[in-house]
Amino acid sequence: ELALELIGVERRYQQGAKELVILDGADFTLQRGETVALVAPSGAGKSTLLHTAGLLERPDAGEVLLSGIPCSRLSDDKRTTIRRNEVGFVYQFHHLLPEFSALENIMLPQLVRGLGRAEAEERARQLLDYMKIGPRAEHRPAELSGGEQQRVAIARAVANAPLVLLADEPTGNLDPNTASYVFDAMEALVRHSGLAALIATHNHDLAARMDRRVTLRAGKIVEM
Ligand code: ADP
Ligand code: ADP
Repeated sequence: ELALELIGVERRYQQGAKELVILDGADFTLQRGETVALVAPSGAGKSTLLHTAGLLERPDAGEVLLSGIPCSRLSDDKRTTIRRNEVGFVYQFHHLLPEFSALENIMLPQLVRGLGRAEAEERARQLLDYMKIGPRAEHRPAELSGGEQQRVAIARAVANAPLVLLADEPTGNLDPNTASYVFDAMEALVRHSGLAALIATHNHDLAARMDRRVTLRAGKIVEM
């Protein structure tokens, strides 16, 4: 079952008089339950691809389908709703809200979506336990280690049980041992939840653990 599909996606940026073509007829499919690594050098367009796939940016041409729904020409409101329900993002830096506890950071996206507090808290605590940071629930981000912060960010990204997890160098800011540990936890959570995941990483050891590896070449997505 297809979770995410890109068909002939184009994305260009104007840089002064020059036009940068980042995605140039990019085709890609991600099945439910599949994990794919996106391995490419800096500047190749990984963030652009993830943001376009996750409905943060609109393609200049082509189509992005989430759960079979063509999203490129939908209104901003509709795209926001689909993004909130179906997409979880993780970045290199956690972007957790500093004044809220780990627990509250994971509850927030659920409350925004209209879930009750009790339900949101139960789900948040389950996710914290699953990421093995249950005892850190009441701590604010600044009181957590880098690895713990990223585990909270991953839990937050999947709090609304999205269809697709999009991660941009999720362990890029961690030392190798912590990166490996956090990556294990993320992978276990993704597989446990039956999520589809597209994970940009420079780390070939981590990429090797995914079901498939792709890269960007001349604006197209190719298997490695
Ligand atoms: P990566 O994530 O692989 O490092 P990006 O997708 O961030 O690559 O960027 C790809 C290229 O597009 C880079 O050369 C970057 O400078 C350029 N770029 C990204 N976003 C914009 C933008 N909003 N306006 C102009 N150029 C951009
Ligand atoms: P990890 O390998 O998960 O990144 P660390 O080895 O960096 O963990 O941290 C070890 C322990 O110290 C963790 O339980 C972490 O929560 C705790 N810790 C790290 N920084 C702080 C801090 N600023 N305040 C409170 N506890 C901290």
